[in-house]
Amino acid sequence: SLIITDECINCDVCEPECPNDAISMGDEIYEIDPDRCTECVGHFDEPQCVEVCPVDCIPNDPDRVESKDELMLKYEALMAE
Ligand code: SF4
Ligand code: SF4
Repeated sequence: SLIITDECINCDVCEPECPNDAISMGDEIYEIDPDRCTECVGHFDEPQCVEVCPVDCIPNDPDRVESKDELMLKYEALMAE
């Protein structure tokens, strides 16, 4: 999963770009639900939120490192919902 850091300026542009509806407004800044973020695997070649974020505040979450295979399994599980 990716994670939004506290450098987020709440510009709102990433939320509608997420194909998994993983991004939502949290208490102070936008947040990514790690159970829904596939790093865009299954949908796009590049993470769409990273592509649009004007302040580059969406790195990989070091506490949720996942392989491409794991991300693809997550994508398939989400599609089956
Ligand atoms: Fe959503 Fe893709 Fe960003 Fe993950 S990487 S939060 S799936 S847009
Ligand atoms: Fe925050 Fe970046 Fe999303 Fe804008 S695009 S709301 S700065 S994470």
